[in-house]
Amino acid sequence: MAVDAALYSRSRCYFFKGNRYIRVTRGDTGPGTVDSGYPAPISNWGWPAGFGANGIDAALYSGTKCYFFKGNRYIRVTRGDTGPGTVDPGYPAPISNWGWPAGFGANGIDAALYSGTKCYFFDGDRYVRVTRGDVGPGTVDPGYPAPMSNWGWDREFVVVHYKSLVPVTDAIRTFMDDQFRAMQTLFLGSRIDVRRGSNQDLSKDTGLADFLALDVGPCLLGQPTQEHDALFAHRDGAGPDDLVVYIVQSLVNGTGNTNLLGCATHPNGQPGAAVVRTGAAWLLAHECGHVLGLRHVPRTPDSNKDRLMYPTVGWTNPPPDVVAAETTTMLNSALSRPATF
Ligand SMILES: [Zn+2]
Repeated sequence: MAVDAALYSRSRCYFFKGNRYIRVTRGDTGPGTVDSGYPAPISNWGWPAGFGANGIDAALYSGTKCYFFKGNRYIRVTRGDTGPGTVDPGYPAPISNWGWPAGFGANGIDAALYSGTKCYFFDGDRYVRVTRGDVGPGTVDPGYPAPMSNWGWDREFVVVHYKSLVPVTDAIRTFMDDQFRAMQTLFLGSRIDVRRGSNQDLSKDTGLADFLALDVGPCLLGQPTQEHDALFAHRDGAGPDDLVVYIVQSLVNGTGNTNLLGCATHPNGQPGAAVVRTGAAWLLAHECGHVLGLRHVPRTPDSNKDRLMYPTVGWTNPPPDVVAAETTTMLNSALSRPATF
């Protein structure tokens, strides 16, 4: 289910697929409502000279005009919100009329986008931005064609599973949801899409009761304790690169209490962290940051308290900051995987 082209047309939008199209009544957002009588044959548009008989590549709204592109030709149409309008004299015309530089779009384009004073045209892994009015090719802005990567659509993703040794009450459920959402929102700024994996309530597993007070030792990266090794082996439902977050009652060092709320120490090849329920909103984000390769920032200067990787919770000026070098580290982690569009 893919479309070839989409056309904004004020109160209506049109979507084209092969030799058919649909008309949708909609506002600025949301799917709107498909008008009755659609899908309809593309021949309804009455384009001349066989233009677009089997479909089009792109469509461009442009105020009083609409443009339709197919291969190395295009047509210009004068029309209102609805109906086919009237194909202007002299069309179809060669796409070379647009005067795009560097061979851009010579054999056709993939998509076109109206954006007020600018229009965008897309061809393979490049695009151009054009300043123009309703008619004419306008002027290609300096610096174009430019790479599609400029749009920042390239994302990576990580998957986070929860396994709770504490009975999953409403409070635990809220904790899991809130922590996940805070991390998801924060990591989007690093182009990392955080996806929710499974939830497992392990509180009835008596064999794990000892780990409710989880011995994390001094909680040093790469130095898991025996209890880490035993608990983190429980990865049901998680892929090898997924993060598993264990919710425990407390984190202890040997038999002594610690004031730790989270610890990202984990056995090799079993990525994850252990946390206790807290109101500290970005605890999950902080611990998963460690798992993705981030280290603590120094306690000084005081402005470091703005950073996600400050050694203690109690961030200033939330949401906490993730700096560019940290984003690079997390994107370079094998645990964050490309989510190509
Ligand atoms: Zn930490």
